[in-house]
Amino acid sequence: MATKFSKEDQSDRNPGLDLPPVDLDLIAQGVRLILEGLGENPERPGLQETPRRVAEMYAELTSGMREDPRQHVVPLPDDKHDEMVIVKDISIASMCEHHLAPFVGKCHIAYIPRDGRILGISKLARLAETFSRRLQLQERLTTDIANTLFEGLKPIGVMVVIEAAHTCMTLRGVRKADAKTVTSAVLGGFRTDPRTRAEAMALITGRE
Ligand SMILES: [Zn+2]
Repeated sequence: MATKFSKEDQSDRNPGLDLPPVDLDLIAQGVRLILEGLGENPERPGLQETPRRVAEMYAELTSGMREDPRQHVVPLPDDKHDEMVIVKDISIASMCEHHLAPFVGKCHIAYIPRDGRILGISKLARLAETFSRRLQLQERLTTDIANTLFEGLKPIGVMVVIEAAHTCMTLRGVRKADAKTVTSAVLGGFRTDPRTRAEAMALITGRE
C-alpha cells in the first residue's frame, strides 16, 4: 500500500472559502454545449431540463468547496478517552477533478487522543464529507482529512485510509470494474511507531 503524505499549508486546503456563489446558469450553458457536441438536440423534451438538473447536481457535489472543514474539529467538552479511536467505513462520494466523474468508497479514520481530547464520531464523518464534496484527487482528499484532524485536535497520531472505486476507471478506459484505489496518510505517532500503525491497519482492514 502506498503511503501518501504531504505538507500542504492550510490555505491550500481551503481554496474555496472566498469563492463567489455557484453560477448555475453558466454550468447549464456548458452542459447544453456538451449535449450539442454529442449531436443531441438540447430542446427535445427529455433533455430540456437536463442542463439545469446537472448544474444543481454539480453544485451539490461540490458544496464542500464553500465550507470550512475546520468547523467540524471541535473536541467534545465533557468526554475523555486515551486509547486509539477508529471509525471505519465512512461512506464518501467525491468527484475526480481530472474527469469530473464520481468516485465512491469508504474512509477509515484512526487517531490516538492527546490529553483525552476526542471528537464526536459524526464530526469525523462531516470532516470526510466536507473534503469529499469538492473537486478532488483521492490522494489529496486523504491527506487533507488527516492534516486538518491533526492540526485541529492535536492528537498523538492520525491515520486516514481511503478505498475508492473511480468511475473514470471502472466505466471507461481500461474498464477494471472491480479496481479499487487505496490511499493512506499517516501522521505523528502512527508514523514513528510501526507497531501502532500495524495495529491500526489490522483493525481497519480486518486482517491481522
Ligand atoms: Zn478521473
